Amino acid sequence: MATQKLLVLPGDGIGPEVMGEVEKIVGWFTRRGVAAFEIERGLVGGSAYDAHGESISNADMALAQAADAVLFGAVGGPKWADVPYSKRPEAGLLRLRRDLGLFANLRPAICFPALAAASSLKPEVVEGLDILIVRELTGGVYFGEPKEIVTLEDGSQRAVDTQLYTTGEIERITRVAFELAKTRRNKVSSAEKHNVMKSGVLWKQVVTRVHKAEFADVELEHVLADNCAMQLVRRPKQYDVLVTDNLFGDILSDIAAMLTGSLGMLPSASLGAEDPATGKRKALYEPVHGSAPDIAGKGIANPIATVSSFSMALRYSFKAIAAADLLDKAITNVLAAGLRTADIQSDNTHVVGTAAMGDAILAELERLSA
Ligand code: NAD
Repeated sequence: MATQKLLVLPGDGIGPEVMGEVEKIVGWFTRRGVAAFEIERGLVGGSAYDAHGESISNADMALAQAADAVLFGAVGGPKWADVPYSKRPEAGLLRLRRDLGLFANLRPAICFPALAAASSLKPEVVEGLDILIVRELTGGVYFGEPKEIVTLEDGSQRAVDTQLYTTGEIERITRVAFELAKTRRNKVSSAEKHNVMKSGVLWKQVVTRVHKAEFADVELEHVLADNCAMQLVRRPKQYDVLVTDNLFGDILSDIAAMLTGSLGMLPSASLGAEDPATGKRKALYEPVHGSAPDIAGKGIANPIATVSSFSMALRYSFKAIAAADLLDKAITNVLAAGLRTADIQSDNTHVVGTAAMGDAILAELERLSA
């Protein structure tokens, strides 16, 4: 049985509560022989600032570099509202993304049948929805230089952000999208705005070239990002894998997320480049939600987003596809049986707390594999 090193960074607020449930599930998969998961724990965000005066220590960064995957909870909260900007809780997550070179952000939007009624769209529009947004995470307008506000001679001000992409940056995110499509429904939709942006023109050219040279067996379509936003609300099931840049990905993935109901359900993965020697990628898995200070410490947070993030780790870092499918099935069944945390409750359901939801998923794993 291969040994796999997991670095667990629970963070702040509800982070430690939901991560506690994930650790139980990791233990279950180790006992079942999926892999010998070795767990190390570190601090990130406000809890790291309290302990070390930094949002992540160099020692924990070294553990992250050495890990096969990082499991991240959430950071932030009012307690750290006044810490210096460079040491704010979110800086720990940004450093992890930057230093591990995590350029590909994967956000699935899956609508569990039992939760279709919780979406703001009609159930028939979202029932059975299963799309994967692949967002470029380390380039584009959030990082391009110049990025500044300057004061002009007349005293008024001018703000500049720079949208910037190179061929190499577009090629590597495109390859991730095509590779993933091959494990799904074999279709990639690429969103940009080539009609008004030079970066969109290059994006479309590079995606087209990579497709023709390396992935001609996968279906490709180009869609303007604004039309894509509309289509996501109108007919989201037309998409399989949607690849896009950092800015459009930020917005389109939030739209897609809300199709599925609740923040407490949404996992994500951020992947780095493949090491040619080992075939492994640096990877960080985290729920989309934050530290939820309003419910922290009450034992009522929904652990499913974080549990599903571990399912993504099984799938993408450890290639344990059957184990990931089993965990996803256990979650689906628990919801179908009417068990809910408070954030996803509806009529005729039974509301439970964080630990009881984790235990129910464990019991279902046990039942499915008996
Ligand atoms: P949030 O995601 O923490 O919470 C938004 C709302 O959703 C709250 O009402 C919360 O109770 C609820 N919610 C979130 N996750 C839930 C879960 N698992 N179960 C049940 N309910 C859940 O966003 P926010 O309130 O805007 O931010 C709170 C703090 O989290 C801030 O400090 C923010 O900067 C930080 N934040 C961190 C991350 C991250 O760590 N990646 C992401 C977003 C926000």
